[in-house]
Amino acid sequence: MKIESRIPGGPLPGKWQDHRNHLKLVNPNNKRRFTVLVVGSGLAGASAAASLAELGYRVKCFCFQDTPRRAHSIAAQGGINAAKNYHNDGDSVFRLFYDTVKGGDFRSREANVYRLAELSLAIIDQCVAQGVPFAREYGGLLDNRSFGGAQVARTFYARGQTGQQLLLGAYQALCREIAAGRIEMRPRTEMLDLVVAGGRARGIVTRDLVTGRLERHAGHAVVLATGGYSNVYYLSTNAKGSNATAIWRAHRRGAGMAGGACRHRRRALLRIRHQPSQALPLGPAGRGGGRGQPAERQHPPRTPRPLLLAATTPRRPCVGERGAAGRCAIHCACYPCLVLSMPSAHWSRE
Ligand SMILES: Cc1cc2nc3c(=O)[nH]c(=O)nc-3n(C[C@H](O)[C@H](O)[C@H](O)COP(=O)(O)OP(=O)(O)OC[C@H]3O[C@@H](n4cnc5c(N)ncnc54)[C@H](O)[C@@H]3O)c2cc1C
Repeated sequence: MKIESRIPGGPLPGKWQDHRNHLKLVNPNNKRRFTVLVVGSGLAGASAAASLAELGYRVKCFCFQDTPRRAHSIAAQGGINAAKNYHNDGDSVFRLFYDTVKGGDFRSREANVYRLAELSLAIIDQCVAQGVPFAREYGGLLDNRSFGGAQVARTFYARGQTGQQLLLGAYQALCREIAAGRIEMRPRTEMLDLVVAGGRARGIVTRDLVTGRLERHAGHAVVLATGGYSNVYYLSTNAKGSNATAIWRAHRRGAGMAGGACRHRRRALLRIRHQPSQALPLGPAGRGGGRGQPAERQHPPRTPRPLLLAATTPRRPCVGERGAAGRCAIHCACYPCLVLSMPSAHWSRE
């Protein structure tokens, strides 16, 4: 397979902006002749669908939940980064770009990350305009916190519910377009396959999760905004429904697959691999526990309880006669009888 990123040429800071400046525009009257299929209605899908519809394209949006509001973006806690430099602590688009590339173990495509850092400035304003209630200082200005080890405070947040509030904002924009008739929303619909014609994604095959009916949908473009690989990995803080089936279908139809996102997510999880209940969500991780803490400090090794018991119990010989259960008939206080009569829950309280 030939890997082709299609990143435009030129100096890094101007690559995407230059490309955008030279793109051919679609005549506003022609936009309604194009149909875009958007699979997914989380933060990515809902905002893509709403933006495309507002531009004038016809959009069909699909999700497997009963409402777009239940996409797993709702679980995101920590916040959203933007190089606004409100604190005058030296932040800039370049610094956010550099931190993001470094945070991704230098595996990301630099031009795309630079574009992300540039666009971060506008995204906050857009979210505020949509009504997302970001945290504010007492004076009324938007508050920032330093998140995930960054040396500047650039994270905009809404308590521990940033994802939920952002999704409500995107959902409202989506609802507005649905009501205007520009988006056909298809909840409870699962994408089963991707249709490729002439090397381009031109349609999808879906199943109605209520009736079981199979359907095909054709479009001029397909946007797959179906979330991360999540449950492909053993441990994940995502819902079980986030199971990568749509991405896998696209891969089977020829799309390349990369795994950069897992590095970020696994940082909190891998170190405590055998104790899933102690996986650290990003909110608490960012508020202090997230930066390169050695596993030993967070979870000191524990002494196995039975050994503790063995060390403190006097070893008296058993005076009774052993029964079928291994315990002696008179329940004497010798060591083997004591261990056998003790539930394991008792040991952990010792
Ligand atoms: C606990 C937690 C905390 C996080 N904290 C942060 C944070 O602080 N800051 C940050 O930037 N990021 C954070 N993230 C990551 C961030 O939330 C996600 O990367 C982002 O929300 C993903 O959005 P999405 O729209 O791509 O996917 P999702 O919100 O998962 O949406 C996927 C959509 O695709 C649909 N879908 C999937 N498969 C199919 C299919 N086969 N057919 C039809 N529809 C399908 C689903 O129905 C859903 O609508 C966090 C994530 C988690 C889990």
